[in-house]
Amino acid sequence: MGKNIGGCHCGAVKLETDLNPMIVNLCNCNRCRVLTGSIAIAALYSDEEITMAGETKTYNYLGGSGMEVVNHFCPNCGCRIVSFAEAFPGMGAYPIGIFEKSTEFIPKSEIFTNYKLPWLQNDGCIEESFEEAAVGERLMLLLEELENR
Ligand SMILES: [Zn+2]
Ligand SMILES: [Zn+2]
Repeated sequence: MGKNIGGCHCGAVKLETDLNPMIVNLCNCNRCRVLTGSIAIAALYSDEEITMAGETKTYNYLGGSGMEVVNHFCPNCGCRIVSFAEAFPGMGAYPIGIFEKSTEFIPKSEIFTNYKLPWLQNDGCIEESFEEAAVGERLMLLLEELENR
């Protein structure tokens, strides 16, 4: 059994990884707010670090960077499983709520603070805040995390 397991609400799609996320990011943009129905916090893993079992359906859209995002969801319960953004090749963004130990997945960065819900606070865990998509800056953060892998 992997260190972190998770899956959709109905159990048809399952995830397993031996690692903690490379980074956990809060996205405050309106696209994510609609897609999640509330607050979008995602754990980033590289594709070889995590295994997914079960069939998903996909929904494609243009992300904050203006590049395509492929969103996988469970066709039975509709739960979002992972988003693959063209801007971050080889990486997947997994909503933290689908992991069993979601309380341990704490955001360290946030983007699109200019769209942030005005009442949303954090306890100081967020070290890097960006007004817009900040793709370049986030790639730098990821590279730093990769060196600590
Ligand atoms: Zn499901
Ligand atoms: Zn977003």
